[in-house]
Amino acid sequence: SNGSAVAPLDASKLTYNLTKSPRHVPSEAEANAGNETICTDHMVTAVWSASAGWSTPELKPYGPLALMPTASCLHYATECFEGLKAFRGYDGRLRIFRPDRNAARMRMSAARISLPVFEPAELVKLMTALLAVDGPRWLPRDRPGSFLYLRPTLIGTQSQLGVQSPKEAMLYIIVSFMPRMDSPPGGMRLHTSPEDMVRAWVGGFGYAKVGANYGPSLMATQDARARGFHQILWLYGPDGECTEAGASNFFVVWKRRDGKKELITAPLDDKLILDGVTRRSCLDLIREKLAGEIEVTERKYTIDELLEADSEGRLLESFAAGTAYFVCPISQIHHRGRDVSIPMGPEGQPGEVTGKVKGWLGDIMYGRTQHEWGVVI
Ligand code: PMP
Repeated sequence: SNGSAVAPLDASKLTYNLTKSPRHVPSEAEANAGNETICTDHMVTAVWSASAGWSTPELKPYGPLALMPTASCLHYATECFEGLKAFRGYDGRLRIFRPDRNAARMRMSAARISLPVFEPAELVKLMTALLAVDGPRWLPRDRPGSFLYLRPTLIGTQSQLGVQSPKEAMLYIIVSFMPRMDSPPGGMRLHTSPEDMVRAWVGGFGYAKVGANYGPSLMATQDARARGFHQILWLYGPDGECTEAGASNFFVVWKRRDGKKELITAPLDDKLILDGVTRRSCLDLIREKLAGEIEVTERKYTIDELLEADSEGRLLESFAAGTAYFVCPISQIHHRGRDVSIPMGPEGQPGEVTGKVKGWLGDIMYGRTQHEWGVVI
């Protein structure tokens, strides 16, 4: 099906139509002031049809899309996306972090909702080409430590209200400013999900980065915000398995009953959680660099286990990890009338493990450590 006998997505054919009116590059303060996301000068688009496969990708001025009101994505949520950052390093170079993982994940998400697939390496090349054009001006060399956010998106565009796999689709890649969101002062405060709501379920699509996972999560998040919390800790099933924190993966560092220090996070095999690039990177780095000091475990664990560890004084740290929030210490979890305080480091700093992994990752992203995960543009 998905176009294997027709033209594949081919980044080497990319055409360039550069803007004649480059826009003002906002300061960080200007970029964070408004409610509207500010995008860079250009975007990349490519269209697909079941009969012809992928069109020639185009790099062109950023601007509105033309869609029919009957387009598949507007009715049946045939939409998936990715999110990754481009970093201006302290060595002056521009990097993206493990883009191959995001591209592979996008292919998986696309397949889950019957959108066309593509060779992930071609998507990486298109992202790189766009950053090569917009990066120098929008992430200036004199702003080391700054970043932009890449948002590859794939939508079903066929104008057909019949419920069916779209036979036309569009891929686009945009680049935006994103405010720094990591680490609210005093740590992140989580509220567990309402008793009558789950984010994902076995047999569903919680593991795919599809828009349909996000809209329905906003109601609980709004309620939690109104009560003074930052994000929802999404529980699943009758036992209250801990899954994700907002749109980030969730981690606990505790002392097991046998005295061993353990980092625990939900497993991928139930397909309830997103296979976070930050999650995977944290697990890999901690397994490598803290071997012998701390056990790293991916298994189901419940909110009751967490409450018990709290009662027994075994909770050491907790953090959320994802592209937007990066690595963010969690200081409090509220569950059905009970408040669990989680230790942080001195003066509101991250705890030891959280701080170490955040440092190692940041060093790779900003080129203080040379590592194959930091792909230079
Ligand atoms: N879980 C969900 C539901 C997310 O949307 C994200 C953000 N993509 C993550 C986890 C973290 O994934 P990553 O580290 O790849 O950003």
